[in-house]
Amino acid sequence: MQIEHLPKVEVGSCNTPLQLLPHLTGDLGKNKLYIKRDDLTGLALGGNKTRKLDYLVAYALENGYTTLMTFGGVQTNHGRLTVAAAVKYGLKSILVLKGAKPDYMSGNLLLDRLMDTELVFVDTTAYDHLPPAERAAKSQAYLEECTRKLVAEKEAQGEKVLNIPVGGQGVIGAAGYIQAVPELMRQMEEQGIQAKHLVVGYGSTGTFAGLWAGAKYYNAPFEVIGIPIEPDYHSLQQTADFLNQISETYDMGFTCTPEEIHLELGPAEAPYGGAGYNLPDRETWETIAHLARSEGVFLDPCYTGKSFRGFVDLVRRGKIAADSGAIFLDTGGAPGLWGREQLDFAQGLFWNDDRNITVFKAQ
Ligand SMILES: *Cc1c(COP(=O)(O)O)cnc(C)c1O
Repeated sequence: MQIEHLPKVEVGSCNTPLQLLPHLTGDLGKNKLYIKRDDLTGLALGGNKTRKLDYLVAYALENGYTTLMTFGGVQTNHGRLTVAAAVKYGLKSILVLKGAKPDYMSGNLLLDRLMDTELVFVDTTAYDHLPPAERAAKSQAYLEECTRKLVAEKEAQGEKVLNIPVGGQGVIGAAGYIQAVPELMRQMEEQGIQAKHLVVGYGSTGTFAGLWAGAKYYNAPFEVIGIPIEPDYHSLQQTADFLNQISETYDMGFTCTPEEIHLELGPAEAPYGGAGYNLPDRETWETIAHLARSEGVFLDPCYTGKSFRGFVDLVRRGKIAADSGAIFLDTGGAPGLWGREQLDFAQGLFWNDDRNITVFKAQ
């Protein structure tokens, strides 16, 4: 089916602002730096999964599903937005979280509880002592077993459960970011912006691949650069395969080879992706503070703090925007700022000194 005819709903409100970063642009030289605000997609504090859900929810409604089930880490933004989309469209939802149930509710978990989804924790700490490959295989098998049980239970109660992969990854979700490209190109034309690069986080890869496919299909003037948000990232081959699947599904007429995919990892001693998925690190938090202090925009410590660090570093090193503008896609995620582990880490950086803090105490 042609991408233009694919059914969609409006989970949030897209057409998100494309804004100049005036102070940051000034600090970094003459080149124009822009931010596409997909943190402002409207529903449930926003984020990039909203555009994917426009197509995933439409698919669920067209095919008579009653329940959206999806997966993620304990602080998943994708999960929060999937639950919100289910609430908005009168569907039920199940959020399967990989990890032990934390003693203390924080970040996205509070929002999940406020929306009252069914939360399922799949705790595989019992396998922690195993070698990595075996641990991963056993954890995956256990997750699948739990999921099968859950789905069978729901089906026995008459529900029809749509199994949405981690991050909304897949050809349906990717449609959201294919279609973000014409929106962005229209905004660039309206504002007279010529940008040769679009920088975005690279996680479950649907956002990157959607943009890449859209840029190819709609002949965009920019190259899409992905910043892996953890050291253990999807290979170029996997993403090229995914892109070819997208092209075939929507009859887009391109083929993609791994060599055409542009990722930037950053310095080997301090990669943009940090030490691991959602592990706090100083560079990322300093990047978050940098943008907050220069533009009043909040990034997040799991994804956009990392990808934005890459964006700024590539500009500084002259790898992008040497003679033109560049755009950063803000994919959202700010509720993760208040995730317990991140918050604990931030105390040491922003609370343990009294700089710019005055206390008057009446006697
Ligand atoms: C999921 C997510 C990403 C990564 O997007 P993918 O499509 O999974 O690659 C980036 N930023 C935020 C805030 C996210 O929640």
